[in-house]
Amino acid sequence: MHKDIATPVRTRGILEKYGFSFKKSLGQNFLIDTNILKKIVHFAQMGEGTGAIEIGPGIGALTEQLARSSKKVVAFEIDQRLLPILAETLSPYSNVKVIHQDVLKADVKEVIKEEFKEIEDLVVVANLPYYVTTPIIMKLLEEQLPIRSIVVMLQKEVADRISAKPGTKDYGSLSIAIQYYMEAEIVMIVPKTVFVPQPNVDSAVIRLTKREKPAVQVKDEDFFFQVTKTSFAQRRKTLLNNLTSGLQDGKQKKDEILDALHKSGIDPSRRGETLSLEEFARLADELYANFH
Ligand code: SAM
Repeated sequence: MHKDIATPVRTRGILEKYGFSFKKSLGQNFLIDTNILKKIVHFAQMGEGTGAIEIGPGIGALTEQLARSSKKVVAFEIDQRLLPILAETLSPYSNVKVIHQDVLKADVKEVIKEEFKEIEDLVVVANLPYYVTTPIIMKLLEEQLPIRSIVVMLQKEVADRISAKPGTKDYGSLSIAIQYYMEAEIVMIVPKTVFVPQPNVDSAVIRLTKREKPAVQVKDEDFFFQVTKTSFAQRRKTLLNNLTSGLQDGKQKKDEILDALHKSGIDPSRRGETLSLEEFARLADELYANFH
């Protein structure tokens, strides 16, 4: 077994050798605690045949742990300066491929087809760059990739919003957008001290597990998400107010909106944050005919 990358001493040595300076704009906060990394890998429940996609390998701290616990790792890294470093730190592992690309611009579906041909169980595991956490997660979900589970480190505040239940202050359109496809659970709260440099915010690890089918069935997914977003446009407003001012021609169609609310058994004076996914699904389906 090779020496772990993620110790303070080894990390400092690697960074000094290459004269590497952190770019805040790329969300570069590297993990220097092997125990935390092992726990993250544990939460991904990988077997010998599992394939792993990593976003932002940095100097390879997590990549190395993934390589030891999976069949193959493919890691997307945007920062060219890290490539020679990764070539050295990951040289003991023949089952790792680093792709120099912005993951938001990558054709991940195609990469999966090419790189994980014989692999049936696929997970995403990452310590995400915090400036693009939500776009990355939404991209992975919306592209309908064959991924069982996504286990990622992110800002605790975003993890709270993703996993929030109806009736709580954190519950909003992001909770719904993600919980529609995935079951969401915060599996670990992580102190700032395990990163260099230390981030300004608290961190958490969230596990998203793909549902066999979406949490609710709706007539039209795009319209369902439009209704949920509109319902939270101004949190202090009632559902009726948000829907009339946010939906196209909502003001002229106030009666239809009221009618749809009644038919779906939802009091028009409620606020979006009190509605469950099932209630939003019923409401969107009742509204659908009037807005198409
Ligand atoms: N995995 C390493 C660790 O845990 O120590 C580094 C994690 S660091 C929080 C985020 C990494 O993502 C950095 O290496 C950064 O260069 C990379 N990154 C930032 N934006 C990216 C993007 N759009 N696509 C791919 N990688 C990105």
